[in-house]
Amino acid sequence: MNKREGKVLIAGGGPAGASLAIRLAAAGRDVVLVERDRFRRHKLCGEFISPECFGHFAELGVLQPMLAAGGERITETLFFPLSGRTVRIPGRAFGEPALGLSRSAMDAILLDRAKAVGVDVIEGAAIASATAEQGELRAVSLRTGEGACEIAADIFIDATGRGKALVKAFQRAAGTGIERPAKRSNGFVAFKAHLRGAELAAGRCEIHFFPGGYGGINRVEGGAVNHCFLVRSEAVKSVGGGVENVLERLVYKNASARNALIDSKAEMDWMAVSFEGFGRSELSYGPRLFTVGDAASFIDPFTGSGMLMALESSAVLAEALASAGDLRERYAELYSRRFRRRLFVCSLLRNAAFRTRTATFVSAALGGLPFAAEALARLTRPHASPAR
Ligand SMILES: Cc1cc2nc3c(=O)[nH]c(=O)nc-3n(C[C@H](O)[C@H](O)[C@H](O)COP(=O)(O)OP(=O)(O)OC[C@H]3O[C@@H](n4cnc5c(N)ncnc54)[C@H](O)[C@@H]3O)c2cc1C
Repeated sequence: MNKREGKVLIAGGGPAGASLAIRLAAAGRDVVLVERDRFRRHKLCGEFISPECFGHFAELGVLQPMLAAGGERITETLFFPLSGRTVRIPGRAFGEPALGLSRSAMDAILLDRAKAVGVDVIEGAAIASATAEQGELRAVSLRTGEGACEIAADIFIDATGRGKALVKAFQRAAGTGIERPAKRSNGFVAFKAHLRGAELAAGRCEIHFFPGGYGGINRVEGGAVNHCFLVRSEAVKSVGGGVENVLERLVYKNASARNALIDSKAEMDWMAVSFEGFGRSELSYGPRLFTVGDAASFIDPFTGSGMLMALESSAVLAEALASAGDLRERYAELYSRRFRRRLFVCSLLRNAAFRTRTATFVSAALGGLPFAAEALARLTRPHASPAR
């Protein structure tokens, strides 16, 4: 069988996996999507949906439910360095306001749409292992509450995020050894919770830089403020670990963060996750296994465009799957054309963000030049309209 036809198995039901499933099912393909969790569920994220996502939502048939889910429209983003000038990026820099909406709501809307367009969605089922023959992925085994089962397919997509669970299962099965990301740092820890009682003006997203990291706040549905921040692992260790220590001894060193958050209370347990770093991964592993979303590239969170990249990369892979020629080459070519410049700019900004002096210098320069700040922010986003 032509591998470009036949059944597609997508592992992961986040924005990359669910949107790809919708696109492929709408194009008439037989798609099964396997998701470890049962939705709705919270997800560690800044929950800032950049406005370029709306064109994708419209294509996917979910714009109306997304906008009607009670989230807050975000009209400005303010960057507060540890010292120095505040940089303000108005929503108009990106055409229209962004949206603050929980991942619990957003991911559920996408997965419901996938079910509605005929995707066979299996929730509560984690990829446990894989079967490989002659170096190619043939089938996956799932671990569910009811036991284990195996599913064969012609094309497999790893949309499980940074963990790349399907790639790792394949590498174990093929005996190639599991790849380890190049160690560029001692890693990061990210935290997130929904808060009550935070001081935050309507329609605003604030980004606070502090020793060892940065974090953001914006409102989501129901009036809660989502607080999500990222800290270097060694900074977390240096204050003895624990979210309270990190808040008190690192985050609140930024006076604006302290003023906004000191009287707030978390209305859910804090979520925390650690990871090694950012950047590009492989786009394919043999002719049958492809990566999309964070599994393909993990973009720096403070650009607020990881979900956009998840939606865009699914559009790029769907386009490659619908075109002629070598699928691996076609996907790599389309992907590079769309994301190369953006990933480069984001890596430069990341280096500035984690260096207090550089962040202060950059904010001092950009604070006096609002148009330069807007232009720089736009470089972290696509040129024009999304891939169609
Ligand atoms: C601290 C932080 C803040 C961020 N803030 C923002 C922001 O404000 N705005 C923005 O646009 N982006 C933000 N991002 C980035 C954004 O969260 C990601 O880019 C986006 O979630 C990627 O989507 P995805 O579908 O590729 O992966 P994910 O959203 O990670 O989805 C992967 C899915 O796979 C499932 N899964 C995992 N393992 C298995 C398995 N073994 N079997 C089956 N299923 C599995 C998971 O349950 C999950 O549902 C942030 C990231 C971080 C770390």
